[in-house]
Amino acid sequence: MFLKKILAVCVLSSIFAISGCQKKEQDSKEKIEEVSQSGFKMDAAQMMTHLHAFEQIAKQHGGNRAVGTQGGLASADYILDHAKKAGFTTEVQAFENREKTKGQNIIVEIPGESKQDIILLGAHYDSVKMGPGINDNASGVALLLELMAQLSQQKIKPKHSIHLAFWDSEEVGIAGSQAYVKKLTADQLKAIKAYINVDMVGTKDPEILIADGDKSSLDEMEKMLKERGMQEQDYKPLLDGLRSIPSHSGDLALENTLKAFFKAKNLEIKEDVATLTASDTAPFLGKVPVTSVILFNEQMKGDELEFAPCYHKACDTIEQVDPKSMQLAGDAVVHLLISLDQD
Ligand SMILES: [Zn+2]
Repeated sequence: MFLKKILAVCVLSSIFAISGCQKKEQDSKEKIEEVSQSGFKMDAAQMMTHLHAFEQIAKQHGGNRAVGTQGGLASADYILDHAKKAGFTTEVQAFENREKTKGQNIIVEIPGESKQDIILLGAHYDSVKMGPGINDNASGVALLLELMAQLSQQKIKPKHSIHLAFWDSEEVGIAGSQAYVKKLTADQLKAIKAYINVDMVGTKDPEILIADGDKSSLDEMEKMLKERGMQEQDYKPLLDGLRSIPSHSGDLALENTLKAFFKAKNLEIKEDVATLTASDTAPFLGKVPVTSVILFNEQMKGDELEFAPCYHKACDTIEQVDPKSMQLAGDAVVHLLISLDQD
């Protein structure tokens, strides 16, 4: 997660106590339970094994896995190795970020019956330089690696091709996914049925953020700010900015599919617009249907809002990750995938 832009939103909303950026009551978060998906079971233990491996990689390479570092390269090797073991073709895409650091995206291709349509899932594998980046975002990578292993082991042939994108340099300018989108032709963009972003999915006691496809949460936010007596001139620029974030007509259907999943589990969700520009969803907005699974646990640390404990810090270790959150996010992604692959 590359969060600068949303800071203003959350600071503003914490001042005015919008529920979105407030820490939710503990009891509403205790409802997270392990769930099972018929016929296709994501294994949290396997995901945790990947997280241990990424933590070791960081430990052996100066404490981080940032783009262009030895830890970053070792992380890429780890992903490539697992894709090879699963028997899938990979494509490595090299690029340079704004700091002239070389990065590499890894795209794993799982062929479907029809090769025309693609369901694209992505997670960034680089960490910040300040820490090992286990929740942010080895967690998303571990989820996709487990998905890849399940598809391989169970010999599942999807209707549509599934591409798993492991992005580099998200933490420096969202550069990997941007380079990928830039290279796509109009026809290639059209072939992408959906982009599903997975970022920070190991957070304990999480608040579930779902991409707000029709931006309906902004109307609620506006209403609340008005009721609290805030002057229009003070909040309008911010809301206008969020409303101007590009969207696609297919976004809402994805939002509703995810909502249905969490609703069936009696879990609270938060419709979210701001984080769309702060992760690898950003380059895809308005171009293809987009959604994301992000788990936050926001708290004020002095004057600063921390999106999850140890966010962008050296202590973003496996200690911060709850296997139950990994399981929940994994099952949510599978639910989306099954629903998308039906038509
Ligand atoms: Zn981050």
